[in-house]
Amino acid sequence: MEQLLIINGRLVTWGTENEIIPDSGLLLQDGLIADMGSSAALTAKYPAAPQLDARGQLVMPGNICAHTHFYGAFARGMAIPGTPMKDFPDILERLWWRLDRALLDVDVQYSALVCLIDAIKHGTTTLIDHHASPNAINNSLDQIADAVTLAGLRVALAYEVTDRNGPLGVQEGIDENVRFLHSLEERGNPLLAGSFGLHASLSLSNETLAACVDAAKDLDTGFHIHVAEHEADEYDSLYKYGQRVIHRLADADILGPKSIVAHAIHIDPAEMALLHETGTWVTHQPRSNMNNAVGAADVEGMLRLGIPVCLGNDGFSNAMWEEWKAAYLLHKLAHRDPRRASGTAVAQMAIYNNAALAGMFWPQAPIGKLAVGAAADVIFVDYHATTPLTAGNLPWHIIFGFESSLVTTTIVAGKVLMRDRQLLTLDEAEITARSRELAAQVWQRFEKLSS
Ligand SMILES: [Zn+2]
Repeated sequence: MEQLLIINGRLVTWGTENEIIPDSGLLLQDGLIADMGSSAALTAKYPAAPQLDARGQLVMPGNICAHTHFYGAFARGMAIPGTPMKDFPDILERLWWRLDRALLDVDVQYSALVCLIDAIKHGTTTLIDHHASPNAINNSLDQIADAVTLAGLRVALAYEVTDRNGPLGVQEGIDENVRFLHSLEERGNPLLAGSFGLHASLSLSNETLAACVDAAKDLDTGFHIHVAEHEADEYDSLYKYGQRVIHRLADADILGPKSIVAHAIHIDPAEMALLHETGTWVTHQPRSNMNNAVGAADVEGMLRLGIPVCLGNDGFSNAMWEEWKAAYLLHKLAHRDPRRASGTAVAQMAIYNNAALAGMFWPQAPIGKLAVGAAADVIFVDYHATTPLTAGNLPWHIIFGFESSLVTTTIVAGKVLMRDRQLLTLDEAEITARSRELAAQVWQRFEKLSS
């Protein structure tokens, strides 16, 4: 029986009704929160349990990222030859579809490792990744899974199937998803999960979609796909198939309560209704959307319809509060209306909907809240408010006051991954140095692919 007693925290529960409870603690036991109460009561009740003193910090559930790409880590600071990229299709062609081709197995592993360090330091304990490495497809998800296991985080993986690397690339992509999903049981790491990755409608023929559905039929999995990130995805679908993207995907059996569509920016109201009807998850990535200048999804409209819109980072830093801030600002500017994307709406995505999505991958115990029986995924945040802080105004404190560097301790399934800003599972100096060497080589290959 593995126990850890957290004391002297200000618990932020993120329960259905959020609560902030001072002078309190948590007993973590065998990966779960086994007890909650005042520090004094818990100390008396569990005198033998090793203690971790939160020293008055906020003790919160770890952050959840609903959509990310570890493989993008080596793009940081990379030059893209030629004229500035003019739109999202240009960015795909000239940046991402060259960078992913330049990745070898070892790069896949190290790009994951640097993202995992970033996640631990920023208190992001659950991530849903979407991977591509066309010249190193086979076992690529194992490279990431090994890194994840070493790090100790909770991660769901998928390989993006796409037609852009020919029929062999399609088959290898399908095989990689199937192989990995089958291997999960044997791996025996309950913190790993998976779904079936697909790039986007515009890079997937009907034959490929059918082959993926067929390959996934015995796997009890949904799909994880980009949708209408740019108008080009809708134009392509209308031109080739006479249907809008969501209708095409619904007809192909891709949507449903286990499937995730990332972005959904250029969908129309009928597509929204169909997303709702099929119970499909949507993820919103405002930093990426602003960076690619692709527009602002109607997240409030989707939330009002009851579509579970979640918050991801699309490969930006794993500091999810940065994504909160971007979501809060983007919709106000896009609509020139300061009433848009309130703190409550952002928390609905980042806290409640992300927690529900995590629960789809890890149904054994609730994730994303502090409650007896919930997963022991907990962070300490060294935030001492200069204005009154309540359960109700916490989202605005997060948006205007929190910095990612305030995270001092990160715990996943009861295991401490960072304590007082010291990483305990990963060697940051080694990984950083090696990553810098590998990234330089990736950049050289990228340049060759660009010329
Ligand atoms: Zn993405």
